[in-house]
Amino acid sequence: MNNYKIVIDPGHGGSDPGAEGNNIIEKDLTLKISKYMKEKLEKLGIPVSITRTNDETLSPSERVKRIKEFYGNGKNVIVISNHINAGGGDGQSVTNISITIKA
Ligand SMILES: [Zn+2]
Repeated sequence: MNNYKIVIDPGHGGSDPGAEGNNIIEKDLTLKISKYMKEKLEKLGIPVSITRTNDETLSPSERVKRIKEFYGNGKNVIVISNHINAGGGDGQSVTNISITIKA
């Protein structure tokens, strides 16, 4: 039995909408996905926290502060920061999570 703890971080929020397009605002979708993930992980009995639960502006330092406050900075803490890419950038992007959202 491992003792992993998970912090889910919905990207952007508040005055920082992230990417926008096709009537989708990144901050709203990352929050929706993150809440869904949290619910599923809780049902599995995995300790999980979330950096924001509403449309809140978080500075990078406040985000990190909250992440560390939940479970500290140990090797057993996994942080999942959710972002939705809009494309158009240069270089590469790695998506490591695939989720089906049910309305
Ligand atoms: Zn983003």
